[in-house]
Amino acid sequence: MNSLLQSKIEFLKGVGPQRGEFLRKELELHTFGDVIRYYPFRYVDRSVIQKIKDINPLTQYIQLKGQITGFRQMGDKRNKRLMATFKDETGEVDLIWFQSVDWILKTLKPKTEYIVFGRPTAFNGEYNIPHPEVEIYTDEIKAEGKGLQPVYSSSEKAKKKGLDSRGILRLVKTLIDQLKEKDIPEFMPAEILQRFKLISRYEAMVNIHFPKSELLLHEATRRLKFEELFLLQLQMLKIKSNRGKISKGFIFEKIDNKFDKFYKENMSFELTGAQKRVIREIRRDTLSGRQMNRLLQGDVGSGKTVVALLTMLMAIDNGFQACLMAPTEILANQHYENIAESLRGTGLEVAMLTGSVKGKARKYILENLAEGKINIVIGTHALIEDTVVFKNIGLVVIDEQHRFGVAQRAKMWSKNEKPPHILVMTATPIPRTLAMTIYGDLDVSVIDELPPGRKSIKTVHRFDASRMRVFGFLKEEIQKGRQIYIVYPLIEESEALDLKHLMDGYESISRAFPLPQYKISIVHGRMRPADKDFEMQRFVKGETQIMVATTVIEVGVNVPNASVMVIENAERFGLAQLHQLRGRVGRGAEQSYCLLMTGLKLSNESKRRISVMCQTNDGFVIAEEDLKLRGPGDIEGTRQSGGLNLHLADLVNDGSILEAARTTAQELLEDDPSLSQPHHQTLLRFVEEISKDNIWSKIS
Ligand code: ADP
Ligand code: MG
Repeated sequence: MNSLLQSKIEFLKGVGPQRGEFLRKELELHTFGDVIRYYPFRYVDRSVIQKIKDINPLTQYIQLKGQITGFRQMGDKRNKRLMATFKDETGEVDLIWFQSVDWILKTLKPKTEYIVFGRPTAFNGEYNIPHPEVEIYTDEIKAEGKGLQPVYSSSEKAKKKGLDSRGILRLVKTLIDQLKEKDIPEFMPAEILQRFKLISRYEAMVNIHFPKSELLLHEATRRLKFEELFLLQLQMLKIKSNRGKISKGFIFEKIDNKFDKFYKENMSFELTGAQKRVIREIRRDTLSGRQMNRLLQGDVGSGKTVVALLTMLMAIDNGFQACLMAPTEILANQHYENIAESLRGTGLEVAMLTGSVKGKARKYILENLAEGKINIVIGTHALIEDTVVFKNIGLVVIDEQHRFGVAQRAKMWSKNEKPPHILVMTATPIPRTLAMTIYGDLDVSVIDELPPGRKSIKTVHRFDASRMRVFGFLKEEIQKGRQIYIVYPLIEESEALDLKHLMDGYESISRAFPLPQYKISIVHGRMRPADKDFEMQRFVKGETQIMVATTVIEVGVNVPNASVMVIENAERFGLAQLHQLRGRVGRGAEQSYCLLMTGLKLSNESKRRISVMCQTNDGFVIAEEDLKLRGPGDIEGTRQSGGLNLHLADLVNDGSILEAARTTAQELLEDDPSLSQPHHQTLLRFVEEISKDNIWSKIS
């Protein structure tokens, strides 16, 4: 690897040991390489100055030049804010800070020429600019003239030490001035550079900081994004293929006995085309002699469970045990009942193991798993514990993957001498770009077809004020023999208050739906599992018509007769969660409904979410919207995606670069799996270097 970029930060001209220490701690800049990858988040052309009088409702961002004529402080301790009157030759506008008030007061001075950049907002018919970037209009800036200048993010602490955007700019400039082309060598094969018309690495690095033109900035960004995504995909695909080579898998040769018999005699419906296709994909995997690592995506209600069951039967036909792991006890329990029922009369032994199975019952299960008498065990993460030993586990099915970590997945591999086949099922459709990145090491199957005869769920938005009308509608549905879910938000941060809302809601529902005509179940996370289960079962058996619950019912619960889902405070749920909740209905032959209840005041984002829900039932469309609204960092399951090393590329907007990068990486590895050809040597060394300490190599 290149030595100059590996030099320690303190050796950069003008840094030294003390500053070096600070840069390491505060900005995580350890080496020259870290500095060069500290990309600007914005560029400004300081020669383009606008006037205060030109601010209008369409103004997005604005750059002004002028002076501060006075400060005003408002609010009390908790609500402190600082306003500064900022003036140019055309008018005045307020700058506002809600944080760092003391620090701003100390640094900004009247009668000084400043450049101010920010986003004006209108308040009571006047414009102000909250938290603007403010910079003294120095001779240095005057000398810059036209052209794009980088703006770097920094911390308050760093700013106090002179390491504001401009301070960082000086560091970067010092470094780039001393870098030569050979210090940032190219590792991308020439053929790829040509095919995608990518500029060289050196040119890209220089232009991302100090773009010579808009066009070069664009090209530099494109090159560096491609590079990030390409390297990431290359690593993941390598891991995948290495695992294929190393991890020999069990071969499920036979599908005679149990599988055939079940398929012909016990199944009450015909598989959909999509289900059949997935079974074929799994067949292919389990015959290949390599360990299967497959992600099965399918919207709620698409029928993943039966695919899992058939796969388990394949394992059993070949003398193996199988297990199914679910994220909650309720769900494990439901899978257990469902599967035990389906397999009745087949002579197979099915057991359930969760944290609340104790004493003799637990002992029995553990012994019989070890002796191989139990064919299928269904449970929660309790199955991961070391005390759970199998005689011969051949298949692990994990339902609702986003609740389990990558590490837990890996732990199940060690439960047999060869790793069992793994089938991960998720009902939260994952946008393609995200799937390729987070689950890039898995093969993906998709069930993109619902069982026939499903009516699409009607979703409407209702305000709290029309609650009585909503109750009237619920009564009509109950009259028709249907059952109803009413769901309340419950999040950890506001748990006490949320529980109160739930109990208040329960009371008012009990009044509106009195005994003996109406019976209500209630389930929330604070209840003892046994009570929860009891209430749940009453609803499942149809003894109660209404289920008042928190999101504990979010995943997997299956009551086909339930046809209405009422979601209270719908504005507080994310899109993925709303979609999951809605998926609890629409499982029978009846027309189903989802009612999203909210107050009158809604943020734009909440409005957007609710309108998306009312417009579509398609989980993939919803997942894409979710990604756009929230960004990938927030989406459940992506928390483990830290360490992806993406500085520039972004999974929302760079989907097409990602696709190109993945295909290119795939082709490259097909042609040269170990990157041993001479013209791939630089690339190989580079990949080895960066994969030393990333999570993907640790779990492989
Ligand atoms: P999910 O994919 O959400 O886990 P389930 O496996 O719980 O969905 O299936 C939902 C419902 O659809 C179940 O009641 C199941 O029996 C039924 N089902 C599954 N596949 C079919 C099919 N091919 N035809 C008819 N009903 C089906
Ligand atoms: Mg399910």
